[in-house]
Amino acid sequence: MTNTLTIIGSRAGSPGPEGPASGYHLATEYGRVLMDCGPGVLAGLTRERLHTDLDAVLVSHQHADHSADLAPLGYHRAFPVVRPPIPLLAPKGIEEYLAALDAVHGIPTLAELKTPIATQLPFTAIEPGRQYAVGDLLVDTLEAKHPVPTLSFRFPQLGLVYTADTALTDELIEFSRGARLLLAEATYVTPEGRNFDEHGHMSGIEAGRLAAEAAVEHLVLTHFSDFADADQTREYAHAQYDGPISLAQPGQRYRLSGSGAELRSA
Ligand SMILES: [Zn+2]
Ligand SMILES: [Zn+2]
Repeated sequence: MTNTLTIIGSRAGSPGPEGPASGYHLATEYGRVLMDCGPGVLAGLTRERLHTDLDAVLVSHQHADHSADLAPLGYHRAFPVVRPPIPLLAPKGIEEYLAALDAVHGIPTLAELKTPIATQLPFTAIEPGRQYAVGDLLVDTLEAKHPVPTLSFRFPQLGLVYTADTALTDELIEFSRGARLLLAEATYVTPEGRNFDEHGHMSGIEAGRLAAEAAVEHLVLTHFSDFADADQTREYAHAQYDGPISLAQPGQRYRLSGSGAELRSA
């Protein structure tokens, strides 16, 4: 089968007219995974008819734009049709947040939904720096530079790296080295006047520098604060990196097998 990355949502902060916040679906010969589950992602998955194609969920961190649809996903796994639980892998330390979501969103009169996340998405705590297997799909993890525990993900069988939310670090460059497809956050257009490093984000400039220094084959920018600025963000990235650059948009599919990633449809 073809290994495919589908962009479900690429907005930072909140969903908008251009679609959901962070969400990315992987359909591969090794397994099917949702990466991040921000607001609007469940609707986007359903629109792409991928909502039942899930073996696991990876969540990079607890910020709402990456996790707010976890309880709705738990509902969806149990109502109206009860599906088997699937594992949720997320950073160690997120347990209290997940329990708080369950406490608020649990439905006491339905056994499957008293704790929708714990019951439908049983949690595995990820230690950054270790490799995990989701089915047959291998996932390497790196501690990102962000205000809360956050993971970057690398899929060595697919040549794919997803930075999640992070500032640019030397470790991230090493982690991304030689990726066929680098899905990199570019939250801001330009760093002028803002300290993005402490805030734990990149602009198009840092995303481009990361792609160049890690010598990746294809850069896909994502996590846009404002889509109106996305072309400008790409220009800043291009000034640093002369390889192909795409702007992640819902519904895009990237093929990950064969000779590198390529855009299949927009
Ligand atoms: Zn974010
Ligand atoms: Zn964040």
